[in-house]
Formats: sequence, C-alpha cells, structure tokens
Amino acid sequence: VANLATRSESKKDVLLGGLLLPGFDEKSCASRYQSVYYRKNMTRPPSPHLIRRLRRQEALQRRCGPGTAPYRRASDRLKPGRNGGGGDGFVATVDGCRYLVLISYRGLGNRILAIASAFLYAMLTDRVLLVDPGKTMPDLFCEPFHGTSWLLPGDFPLENFRDLGEDAPESYGNVAVNRSGSVTGLRFVYAHLDHDASPANKLVYCDDHREFLHRMQWVVLRTDSYITSGIFLNPAYKEELDLMFPRKDSVFYLLSRYLFHPTNDVWGMVTRFYDSYLKNADERLGIQIRVFDGDKPFQHILDQILACTSQENLLPGVVNAGDTPPVVTTTKRSKAVLMTGLNSWYHDSIREMYWRSASTNGEVVSVHQPSHEEHQAFFRSIHDMKALAEMYLLSLTDKIVTSGWSTFGYVGSGLGGLTPYITIKPENHTVPNPPCVKAMSMEPCNHGPPYFECTKREINKVLDTGNLVPHVRSCEDIPWGRKLA
Ligand code: GDP
Repeated sequence: VANLATRSESKKDVLLGGLLLPGFDEKSCASRYQSVYYRKNMTRPPSPHLIRRLRRQEALQRRCGPGTAPYRRASDRLKPGRNGGGGDGFVATVDGCRYLVLISYRGLGNRILAIASAFLYAMLTDRVLLVDPGKTMPDLFCEPFHGTSWLLPGDFPLENFRDLGEDAPESYGNVAVNRSGSVTGLRFVYAHLDHDASPANKLVYCDDHREFLHRMQWVVLRTDSYITSGIFLNPAYKEELDLMFPRKDSVFYLLSRYLFHPTNDVWGMVTRFYDSYLKNADERLGIQIRVFDGDKPFQHILDQILACTSQENLLPGVVNAGDTPPVVTTTKRSKAVLMTGLNSWYHDSIREMYWRSASTNGEVVSVHQPSHEEHQAFFRSIHDMKALAEMYLLSLTDKIVTSGWSTFGYVGSGLGGLTPYITIKPENHTVPNPPCVKAMSMEPCNHGPPYFECTKREINKVLDTGNLVPHVRSCEDIPWGRKLA
C-alpha cells in the first residue's frame, strides 16, 4: 500500500474526474483541493450524466438560492396566511424555483446521511436544497456550491418548522390519506421520513410527478436516515438513477465526495493527526467502536473486535510473554491502527497488548485514537468537529472495521470508498458468532425503509422490499434495513 509520499508523487486530479468544479477559493477551503493527496484514487469515477446533473443543480441553486429575487418571492409565500401553491395551481412554475428544506437533528452521522440523500432527492425533483444549519454546520463544512449558500437563511419565515411531527396537518401521510391528496390552503408539505415514520408517511418514497407534492413550491423534509435506498425502489426515478449511477454500490461515495468538504479548522485536525500518526505506516487499519448499551467499557466488545480482526486477518496475534525472543529485522512492516470511540479503554487495551507482547508475524503495530469524548453531545461545535475529523480520518484508512447500526461508521467507510467489516450488534453481552461480516458494499444502510411496493402502495401489508430490485438488499447489520449493493 502506497503511503502519502508515493501517493502524491504525480499531480493528482483534484477535481475528481469532473465531479468538482474549479474556481473556488483554495485558501478558504483547503480540503477541497488537498484531500486528493490523502486519498487513494477514486475507486468509482462519476458518470458523465451525474456530472451533467450536478452542473444543472448548481445552476438551479444559484438562480433560486438565498439572496435572489425568486427566493424572496417564494419565502414571502410561506408567511402565515399565505398559500403554498397547491390550491391555486402552478404558482411554483412562474420562475421554476421550488425548494426542499432539510431539518437537522440527531447525531452527526445521521445528519450527514440525511443531507446526502436529501441532495439526491432534490436533484431528482428539481428542487433547491436548503439545509437547516443547526448550531454547528458552518463550523463543519464548506459551501459545496459556488456563488450561493446551501444553508437555510436565519430569517426563514416558517415558524417552528423544527417542531413538525408526523401528525402535522401538512404531513405527507395526512395529505395523501386523510385529505385525498388535496393541498388547498397548505403553504408547504412536510415529508416525515424519520426511521420510524408511519407507513402513510413513507408513501413519499413512492411519490412521482403526478402527485400533489410536485405542485408544492416548498417541501420540508425530516429524516435521520440514508433514504436513498428507498428512493431506488421508486420506478419513477429508475431511468434517471440508472444514468446517474450505472453502479449502484457507490452512490454515497460519489455524493459525499462532492458535498462534504471539511472547513479549514476540521481539515487541520484531520491532516495533523494523519501526518503525525498514520502517514508513514505501510498499512492503515480503521476500527470504529460505537456501543449502544451505554458509554462504559465492555469486555465483550473488546473480545468481539479482536475476534473480528483475527478472523479477517486484519491484525496479527501476539506471542505469549517469554515464548519467543523479539524478532530482529531491519525492515519490519508497520501497521497503524486508527481507533475511534467515545471511550478510550478499547484503544488502551489494544495498544497495551502490542506493547507488552510481540506480534506473531513481526509486524509493528501502533494504535492511535484522536479523542474520547465519553458521551454523545448535541450541536456543540468542537464536539461535532472532532466527530467529523474522526469520520474523515477513518475514511483515509486502507481497511476498516465498523460497528453495526452506527451511522458514524457508515459515513467513515462510505466516504472512503471502503467496504467495511461490520461488527454485529451483540445481544446479552456476548460476542456474536460470527463477530463481524464483510459488507456487500460501501453503501450505508437505511434503518427505516418502506415495506410496500410503489406500484401497489398497500401500506398495511408488510412486503420484503429486499427482493424487489436486484440492487436493494437487506443490510448485514440490520435485517429489516435496506442498502444498495
Ligand atoms: P450513530 O449514533 O453511531 O449512528 O452516529 P451519529 O454520528 O449519528 O451519532 C453519534 C454521535 O456521538 C456523534 O455524532 C458524536 O457526537 C458522538 N460520537 C460517537 N462516536 C464517536 C467517536 O468515535 N468519536 C467522536 N468524536 N464522537 C463520537
């Protein structure tokens, strides 16, 4: 495996085969231009059609985005007492500007998956994507579009939109089922795609241009999930998606490389850590530990990680003290292990293991963990910056072990184009057998997919949507989840 020095020997294609546009200020967002020197070559190049659609979306974002006359007109129509378009027809088509507002909530991994899939949905439905910045977004990411902002302006007029829930009168489920699709008197429609949304609200997965949603100028979306795999079940988008993504296993990889450029502060954290601890190793292994049973350390989780790295030959074993004298060679292979987690005990234990005992194959193993925040925090800038830097660092490794169920892990592997080894979530504090499985693709799992077929829309029958189309499958870690492969 080439280290950074050899990786960067030749001039790299910083624009990633046309995925990115030139013309951004390099100093204000160094990651956009430098990340290519920290990464392997693109494992999946963007298709010409995806590139065309991105350029079209960028133009739309610029023409209709915050600060423009169309945006002002459209946001005026959201003020209380105004009508959003359905009732009085095609007002939305006057300037062709329609909007998708994404509410930000839950952990950063969830939010990143939500943004990537909302962006795809915005492209498919010709809407401008506006992301609710929460408290920390500007500290985390550069603007992905030139000459406009994807952040929802602070004076967005829709009062209390962050409190919308699935019973709201504007919710897609309500409009589809209780109002028979009538949007008269509604200023917007609210798409509720939280992972545990009701089947009626999940009907939005099957929406197409014949439906009422298309007539609304404003759609507010709440999701904590990678809804993309659900969108792929909708026959209305099949042709377009096939052109955009001839390969279905790298949708998040391409979208995330296009959208997510860490700010200079986060990029500094990424590169300083990489240069200090990972750069010079012959090989880098990422291990992401996310425990959902509580934040204290668990022996069975450590046992599971070691069982996985041993089963998959990712880490060497150690010799018992006194068994063999240390191997003396001048050219020892080195392996740097990047560990991430809220707790430092797993890292300390593995590091101590390779300090106290020699590895069985003479490999030099160094173990590093950037932070141990102890507990998850919400919308605290430095906490989120560390989380992003760590997901990004995981994506720079050569092989990766991630924790089942964790969106943090999905982002780390997806962004890196790495097919992870996923540890299965333990039951009753025992190591599952097998401890981990090699994933079928680098795509994230959608934890709350639809369970009905769009052609039938029988929302009260549960159907196995893992067998409807060849590239949407049941996830390795969550049998009822769906992922692209
Ligand atoms: P998920 O809960 O594993 O699906 O991932 P999320 O990212 O959505 O939420 C977990 C949150 O907990 C993160 O966003 C961080 O705030 C925090 N967190 C969890 N694991 C780590 C970690 O390894 N490093 C850091 N810095 N924060 C973490």
